[in-house]
Amino acid sequence: MSAPDPARWADIAFEDRMSTVEFRVGERAHISVDSEVCRSCTTRACVTACPADLFAPTADGGILFNYEQCFECGTCYQVCDAEGAITWTYPDGGHGVVFRHG
Ligand code: SF4
Ligand code: SF4
Repeated sequence: MSAPDPARWADIAFEDRMSTVEFRVGERAHISVDSEVCRSCTTRACVTACPADLFAPTADGGILFNYEQCFECGTCYQVCDAEGAITWTYPDGGHGVVFRHG
């Protein structure tokens, strides 16, 4: 089997990508974002890096975050260089993303 082609992935519509996964949403947020820390952030790297589009800047300089459709990829935690902005854990057992094919 050949390796996935990144160019092909880019051609798949966001809605189509999201329709291939299932989210078993836990009551506890496995990621939390401290919007106060985000106010002094100049990069907003999480907004462009999150493949599920879960970070939204607010007009007052904060960040809105919704954990419910998280792919658990860890990208936000990797790109954010502000200490304390993101608290990252895995969801509780039996919850979280379920990847499906096709
Ligand atoms: S989560 Fe990190 S990268 Fe995103 S706005 Fe906050 S401080 Fe910036
Ligand atoms: S772990 Fe991945 S999908 Fe989840 S919020 Fe962070 S970047 Fe987005």
